[in-house]
Amino acid sequence: MKTYPDGSLASGSLYEVWPEARFVKMAAACLRHADLLEYLRALAARFPDSIELEVVGHSFLGRAIQMLTLGSGPNKVLLWSQMHGDEPSATPALLDIASYLLQYADQPEARAVLQNFTLLMIPMLNPDGAEVYQRRNAQGIDINRDALQLATPEGRLLKRIRDEHQPMLAFTLHDQDRRKVVGKTGQVANIALLSVAGDEWQTLTLGRLRTGRACAAIVQALTPFIAGGISRYDEEWSPRCFGDNITAWGTPVILIESGGRPRGREVTELTRLNFVAILAVLQGLARDDLAGYDPGVYDALPLNREESWSDVVIRGSHVLLPGSSRAFRADLAFDVLQNDRQVAGCSDDPVVPSQIILVGDAFTHGAGTSIEAFGKVLLTPFKVAVRGWPQRHWLTQANLARLARLGVGTVCWEVSASNRGEALAHAAQSGGRGMPRIEVHADPGNLPAAVLSGPPTPAEEPGNLAGILQALGVEDAEDVTALAKLWVPAAADKPETPPLIKDRPASFLMVSAGADGQVDLAASRLVAVWLDGQQVTAQADPQ
Ligand SMILES: [Zn+2]
Repeated sequence: MKTYPDGSLASGSLYEVWPEARFVKMAAACLRHADLLEYLRALAARFPDSIELEVVGHSFLGRAIQMLTLGSGPNKVLLWSQMHGDEPSATPALLDIASYLLQYADQPEARAVLQNFTLLMIPMLNPDGAEVYQRRNAQGIDINRDALQLATPEGRLLKRIRDEHQPMLAFTLHDQDRRKVVGKTGQVANIALLSVAGDEWQTLTLGRLRTGRACAAIVQALTPFIAGGISRYDEEWSPRCFGDNITAWGTPVILIESGGRPRGREVTELTRLNFVAILAVLQGLARDDLAGYDPGVYDALPLNREESWSDVVIRGSHVLLPGSSRAFRADLAFDVLQNDRQVAGCSDDPVVPSQIILVGDAFTHGAGTSIEAFGKVLLTPFKVAVRGWPQRHWLTQANLARLARLGVGTVCWEVSASNRGEALAHAAQSGGRGMPRIEVHADPGNLPAAVLSGPPTPAEEPGNLAGILQALGVEDAEDVTALAKLWVPAAADKPETPPLIKDRPASFLMVSAGADGQVDLAASRLVAVWLDGQQVTAQADPQ
């Protein structure tokens, strides 16, 4: 373990020590207000002589908002998290920091923090928003735009605590869009920092010099773990925001925005980065008022940018639209819109929509996953028709999975009015992520031309397109235009809107083709299938 000459832990070791030292063992997004109260009680019980726990106010719906106080120093530091209910990453970090400092109180650096400072922590300032995982409070007001009007009980509480204690420094702890990037690097921003200005002209005060040095300390502490993943937040003066006004009222504020999760790391990593960042600042302040840190390091950070990064980008591909015989060159970028609770596995909502962000040139677009697709063509998933209620016997999960592997994205099921309710119930229970959707139709005239009267044979795996057309009941297919029978409803006069466009779900097929993107029924093979952002893998049939 790395230490300073006096024996205390360096920031690298803060990172290493967190998995064991963390007090909250739950992913931030899963932590509800009741869980937080439980953890706060347990923390106060563990360090009864060192922690003061006080209900400092109530949310609009009456939930208790607690402040945790530790340390005995003359200088006060205020830290609050989750004033936006769906921005939770720092909430567990505050408890982890309190627990760590008290557990290691005999170590020089931790002791210096506790002797020099009194830490005032308000984890989860917006418990009503956190409960339903929304940004705003229960009045529908963004608490962070309420610093002047003070219409929210949570905002009034924050101002009262600030005015009462006159802290020398404050941290406002947030999460930002997980897909913002660092300048023009194409790299996702894991952390964005702001030395908050106290006026429109961004006057450099002594307080702001200190928050600039603090941001430099955070950059130094985090760079070993997220090199190039730190950006500078938009510095424009926001007259209604708390950070800006608290700075103006005399307490300089550091904003930490947790962003995208570092690639390949666990969902709790952002909490860990907050733990390291905040402790690095507190220890540096206690050591020598952050004397060794150059605010220029913060000034040189690239700015936070948006709209140039997606979860998945397919590069080098062509796209063939329904009804067309020639593919054109286009990349495809899409996002899988899981919320953090779904990522962390504590959401009841199984629906994860996806969204196409870009069709065209993705040269300047960063990606979580980049897929090279030269010599590949992207197509709209196929539609097939099934006629009659008796067909339900073979519309099983296993057979739907087989259809998915043949590129079928939608099964249009025509049933009479008397069976409609049962068919809808059957459809609702079938499918799921990476499976075809069953659409129940009443009108026999508006079905796709390919009609199935039984499951595709189990041996049928993605082969050439001619074989797939045959398996899906399209006879006499001579050239690529025959694929249109698997796309366009038979009775429609004009082809439907091509689904491979911006804002639609990311459902598409990838087939092999010539270098110029030409598709040939005999030579082209189905390489991969995505249904609503989920890749269909060639796994064993689910039973
Ligand atoms: Zn926020």
